[in-house]
Amino acid sequence: MALKDKVALVTGSASGIGEQCARKLAAEGASVVIADLNLDNAERVAQDIARGGAKAIAVAMDVTSEEAVDAGIAETLNRLGGLDVLVSNAGIQIVNRIEDYAFADWKKMMAIHLDGAFLTTKAAIKHMYASGKGGSIIYMGSVHSHEASQLKSAYVAAKHGLLGLARVVAKEGGPRGVRANVVCPGFVRTPLVDKQIPEQAKALGISEQEVVKNVMLKDTVDGAFTTVGDVADTVAFLAGFESSALTGQSIVVSHGWYMQ
Ligand code: NAD
Repeated sequence: MALKDKVALVTGSASGIGEQCARKLAAEGASVVIADLNLDNAERVAQDIARGGAKAIAVAMDVTSEEAVDAGIAETLNRLGGLDVLVSNAGIQIVNRIEDYAFADWKKMMAIHLDGAFLTTKAAIKHMYASGKGGSIIYMGSVHSHEASQLKSAYVAAKHGLLGLARVVAKEGGPRGVRANVVCPGFVRTPLVDKQIPEQAKALGISEQEVVKNVMLKDTVDGAFTTVGDVADTVAFLAGFESSALTGQSIVVSHGWYMQ
C-alpha cells in the first residue's frame, strides 16, 4: 500500500491504459479520480473500483478545455481533500500520410496530447505547491516519444513534446517537491490500437496480420504486445517513488522495441 492516503487523478481512465493505471493506484491504497470525456464509462470504472474497497470518483473532463480541467481539479480537491499524483494519459490516434493529414486532425492531436498535459499540469501543480507536500506528475508518452513511424506525424511530434514538458516541470517543480516523468509504452492492445490495425493495413496496402507482425511488433525482442498491467505497474512505481532522484526521466516499457 505504497500510496495509502494519496489522491491520484488519471485522465483518460475510462478505458485502456488509463483505466488499468487507476485500478493499480487504487490497489496501492490511493483514492482515485477517473477523469474522462466519457462520463458514463468513467462512472462504471469508478463504481467498480469502489466495490473493491478503494475510494474512487468519476469526473467529466475534456482535457483540451481549461475550464473543464480547472473544474475537475477543483472537484477533486473538494471531494477528496487533495491531489498528490497526476497521470496525464488521455490520448487518441489519427494516422495518415503527411500530405493527406488534415490540419484540423493535427490540431486535435496537439490539443489532446499537449494542451491536455499542459492544462492538467498547470492546475495540479498549483495545488501540489500550496499543500507543501509536492507530488508526482506522470505523462503517458510512447515509444513514439523517442522513435518515429510513418503515418504518425502528429502523434510522434506530440509524444516527443511531452519529454520536453516533463523536463521543464522537473526543473521548476524539483525545489518544491514535484517530480515529473514520462512512461513510454510499446504497442498495447486497447481500443486505440485495435482501431489503428485496419487503418494501417489500408494505408500501407498490407494485411492486418502483417501490420501486427511486421509493423507493430517487428522490433520487439519477443514479438509480444506490452500489456496495460506492465504500464500500470510502471506508473505505480513512479507515483510511489518519493525522492527527486528520479525526475525528468522517461521509462520505456516496450519489450525492447526501443532501448535507451
Ligand atoms: P483508449 O482509447 O483505450 O483510451 C483513451 C481514453 O481517453 C478514453 O477513455 C477516451 O474517452 C479518453 N479521452 C479521449 N479524448 C479525451 C479528452 N479530450 N479528454 C479526456 N479524455 C479523453 O487508449 P489507450 O490505448 O489506453 O491510450 C491511453 C494513452 O496511452 C494515450 O495517451 C496513448 O497515446 C498512450 N499510448 C498508447 C499505446 C497503445 O499501444 N495503446 C502505446 C503508447 C502510448
